[in-house]
Amino acid sequence: MSDLVERLTRITTNEPRKLTAEEKLRLEAASELTRLRAALAEAERERDQARAFVVELFEETDWPEGGDLDGFVFQEAAARAGILTPQERTEFCAENCHCAEYHGDPAGGFECYRKPQWLVDAQAARHAERAAIAAKGE
Ligand SMILES: [Zn+2]
Repeated sequence: MSDLVERLTRITTNEPRKLTAEEKLRLEAASELTRLRAALAEAERERDQARAFVVELFEETDWPEGGDLDGFVFQEAAARAGILTPQERTEFCAENCHCAEYHGDPAGGFECYRKPQWLVDAQAARHAERAAIAAKGE
């Protein structure tokens, strides 16, 4: 398929003629295929991160016998799985971060664990859902 894209690209750049309807369709299909492959690769990467995280949590809690899970252990497992991204900072973050609560003086630099956007969005949606339910109950 990438061969097709190459050929069609050559046609569009070297030969000053209009593409046929079929060539346009093929080019669009190739472009869509490229987009879908990238989306699949991203979805597979996120799945692998989620699986690695779940495996670590099961190991850490020793389920079904297990007990509590320490917050630091949870954070480290999420970072190892690639869900949380440690970021060196010298200033506190704003919303969706508690790093300011854990570091009194940011001047010397500190590590902030950043959530991926999908997690920020999912948590915001859940909070909105809970607020709506609570508002109905009152
Ligand atoms: Zn932060």
